[in-house]
Parts: sequence; structure tokens; C-alpha cells
Amino acid sequence: MTNSARIAQMPLIENLLALYSVDKQVRGLTSRVESAKIYLNVQKRQLDEIKLERVENSQQRMQHQSHIATIETESGSIDDRVNHLREELNKAVNDKQYSAVLAEINTLKGQRQAFEDEELTEMAAVDILEDSAKNIKTRKAERQTLLNAATVELKTRETEIADQLVELEVQREAAASIIPEEALSTFDSIADDYEGEAMASVDVDDLKRREYSCNSCSLRISLDALTTLLGSSENIVICGSCDRILYLKEDTRQAICPSK
Ligand SMILES: [Zn+2]
Repeated sequence: MTNSARIAQMPLIENLLALYSVDKQVRGLTSRVESAKIYLNVQKRQLDEIKLERVENSQQRMQHQSHIATIETESGSIDDRVNHLREELNKAVNDKQYSAVLAEINTLKGQRQAFEDEELTEMAAVDILEDSAKNIKTRKAERQTLLNAATVELKTRETEIADQLVELEVQREAAASIIPEEALSTFDSIADDYEGEAMASVDVDDLKRREYSCNSCSLRISLDALTTLLGSSENIVICGSCDRILYLKEDTRQAICPSK
């Protein structure tokens, strides 16, 4: 008898257990790659955030610097006007004219002072933004280093599992091929929902009082469910609480039904 023929003659629950075992190995291998992918994506996202921060910082610095340039132009015009007025002051022919020119000079000096104050505020803002730009640059370099390491790690893990995964996929395919379509789709959907944990054994809590529980969620299993399980290994019984496909280990079956 060939190996596959022997497998094909095993009851459904046995076949599901074989699939469960190889399916978990496949998931275990791919999960190492998946977690490396997730880690790499986190690094990429954080680097993008830092890049965005850098663009915003640079835009803000440019705005302040252009404002400073405007202030300096305005201050320059005021200085020119004041110099011109000083010459007029010297040429003033009467007190009234002199006072009028002097008043304008004083007004302009006030405006000049306001511009100077504003420029100092702007320069302080630029200083803060420049410090922050240095900090952003450091963080960007650090994040880039992490991202490079994460890229290498992902490639390494992918290479590590490649051969083993191909072999396991073949085994999984073979184990799945002998399971009826409906049972397989039940298994696959439960395995997908619970990261491969599709099956759970039945534990005997108290044989005399006929108390049994699900090994996955510890909740009590009804006698009806147990009877169905004992009746045939072709029956699929799902835990009402945690959705796992229930199975009886051989020693559990023996303990419950010593005759069989
Ligand atoms: Zn359960």
C-alpha cells in the first residue's frame, strides 16, 4: 500500500489533523516574513513622516526669511527717507517747516523701531526652525539606517524560508487534496480567522460526571457534541464558543469509551 493510499483511507478528522499540522508550519514560516514586512513598512512610514516634517520646516524657514528680506527693504526705504528729511531739516526756513519735518522724522523712527523688533522676532523663529532642522536631519539618518537594516532582514528571511516553504506548500497541497471540499473550506476559513489555530482537542475534566471541555477555550462541551464526535471520525464538530474544529485524542477516546 502506498503512503497516499494509506492517508486517503484515514478518517476525515485524521486527515484534517494532518492538514492542521502542515498548515501551521506554513503559517509559522510565512509569519516570520510577514512580521519583517510589517516592521519594514513601519520604518518606511516613519521616514515619510520625517521627510514631510523636513519639507514643512524648510517652507516655514523660507517664509520667515522672505519676511525678513521685506522688513530689511522697508527699513532701507525708511533710512533713505530719514536721510533726505535730515537734509530738508537743515534747509528749513521757518519753525513751522522745521517742526513738520522733525515730526515726520520721529514718526519714521518709530516705524523703523517697530520693524527692528519684528525682525528680531523673525530671526528668533528662524533660529528655532534651524535647530529643529538639525534634529530632523539626525532623526532622518537614524530612520534610514533602520529602514536599510529592515530591508536586509526581510530579504534574509525570504531567502531562508524559500526552499522550506516550497516543500511545505507541496505537503499542504497533498494534505488538502484528500479532504472533501466543504470540510476544507470550513477548515480554511477557521484557520484564516485564528492564525492557523483551526483545531482543538477535547479535554476530560471529570470522567464520572461526564464533564468535557475544549482545550482551546476551556469551555464545557455538550454531551450531544461529544456523542457526535464519538459516533464517527467523519463528523465535524465545531466548538460553540471558540469555533475550533474539535477532535478526540486516542487516549481520550479510550478513556471515554474503553470498549472501542
Ligand atoms: Zn473552544
